[in-house]
Amino acid sequence: MRIAIIGGGFMGVVLAHEISKNDAKATIFERDSQLGGLTTYQDYGDFVWDKFYHVITPTDQELVELLQEVGLDKKLHWRRSLTGYYTDKKFYSLSSSKEFLMFPVLGLIDKIRLGYTLFRGAQINDWKSLEKIPVNDWLIKLGGKRTYEKFWAPMLQAKLGENHKKVSAVFIWTYIKRLFRSRSSAAQKEHMGYVTGGYKTIFDRFENLLVEAGSEVLKGRTVTEIKAAQKNGLLVGHDGNFEHFDKVIFTGPLNALEKIVSPELFEISNVERPISYLGAICLVLVTKQSLTPYYVLNIGDNDTPFTGVIGMSSLVDLKETGGKHLTYFPKYIDENDPLWSKSDEELEAYFLKGVYYLYPDLKETDILSAHIHRAFKVQPLQELNFSEMVPRLNTKHPDFYVLNTAQFVNDSVNNNTVVKHVDRFMTAFNKELVGESST
Ligand SMILES: Cc1cc2nc3c(=O)[nH]c(=O)nc-3n(C[C@H](O)[C@H](O)[C@H](O)COP(=O)(O)OP(=O)(O)OC[C@H]3O[C@@H](n4cnc5c(N)ncnc54)[C@H](O)[C@@H]3O)c2cc1C
Repeated sequence: MRIAIIGGGFMGVVLAHEISKNDAKATIFERDSQLGGLTTYQDYGDFVWDKFYHVITPTDQELVELLQEVGLDKKLHWRRSLTGYYTDKKFYSLSSSKEFLMFPVLGLIDKIRLGYTLFRGAQINDWKSLEKIPVNDWLIKLGGKRTYEKFWAPMLQAKLGENHKKVSAVFIWTYIKRLFRSRSSAAQKEHMGYVTGGYKTIFDRFENLLVEAGSEVLKGRTVTEIKAAQKNGLLVGHDGNFEHFDKVIFTGPLNALEKIVSPELFEISNVERPISYLGAICLVLVTKQSLTPYYVLNIGDNDTPFTGVIGMSSLVDLKETGGKHLTYFPKYIDENDPLWSKSDEELEAYFLKGVYYLYPDLKETDILSAHIHRAFKVQPLQELNFSEMVPRLNTKHPDFYVLNTAQFVNDSVNNNTVVKHVDRFMTAFNKELVGESST
């Protein structure tokens, strides 16, 4: 059986790996010249590392198990990671319970209420009731208005911009569950993981395994159309030709799907309530000196153009980055934001102004290189009653499936959720295949 997978991001690659374990042959079509999608890698001159920052948390159980399965566990490193907060022109470390208790921006009552919100959030399992409540209302009800304004609002603004007013409480609940539970219970300290060589090592490993298993990985191949074949299966259009496959699974974002399938095959989503995505623009700096001791610095300050600082070199061994320091400055924006129309040079100048505002001692000569990375479709907005808006896995054609991050109704968009999503899909898909072969 030949199965086409459209998209060679993490979803497509993990899916192809699982399919290759059966008798079927997977063919990945990836439009970029390298695998990875949003998780792909970048040549920074002296070293290669992730294009956008990626980290593994101790709660990423399914992802860690998958890395073990493909023999990458020896390359997986866990390191202590610090979290900081910038507000009122000061940096605060919030990396331990003690530091949190001493955090002067919140009073004692606010801290107790914040602690209660985190505790309650981590206990909740019924996400369905949360998707009916706006995130702001939920956080204010549990933690109070002051805690919301001083602590949560800047974080939500950082992650979602003005769109935070539209999302449900599920959004923050998934973060609470993933991040705050990653504190090791004994030490109450955060630990984060990475694989030697970054995600390039992971994609190279999967590609080798796929080729060994007789599957195909086609890079630089854009699929331009998917249509029903006359009998069973589908025809996949690429490079001016159509190729027949028994099954086709699309893993990219919905706008890319809309361009290549007709409504007879698949209705993108609820027409009255289409899913909207947030994108991200990120400045990446390679510097001689370290800019920040924190892996994540959250920013509660409206004067910086970016919404956080990710100090990759405060987490990964400096050997990984040729002794240089790697720092990411992301900003999440919606598809109508005027920043998309700016050139890379304009964006670099705009973001760098914010970098110098935050780190006035940084000298221009310390910056070895600067890179602007853009991703237009990153985070499907988990609006109220999001589960009613998501696209189905099965389509109008029995051999065509859609599997993507817009279907994550009760989880944040990360690679552990990708692995779980693929696992659930494969359980149902394998049953279907067994059913088909016995009829
Ligand atoms: C700034 C940022 C930080 C992140 N940090 C983390 C983190 O710390 N930890 C974590 O676990 N996750 C993180 N993530 C999330 C992680 O990147 C996603 O979970 C993951 O990329 C989703 O993979 P995907 O394959 O579903 O989608 P994508 O990566 O979007 O892949 C879809 C692929 O489909 C291809 N495609 C689309 N249309 C076609 C077509 N017609 N023909 C051929 N190919 C096509 C695209 O080129 C793309 O490669 C982060 C993401 C971003 C942007």
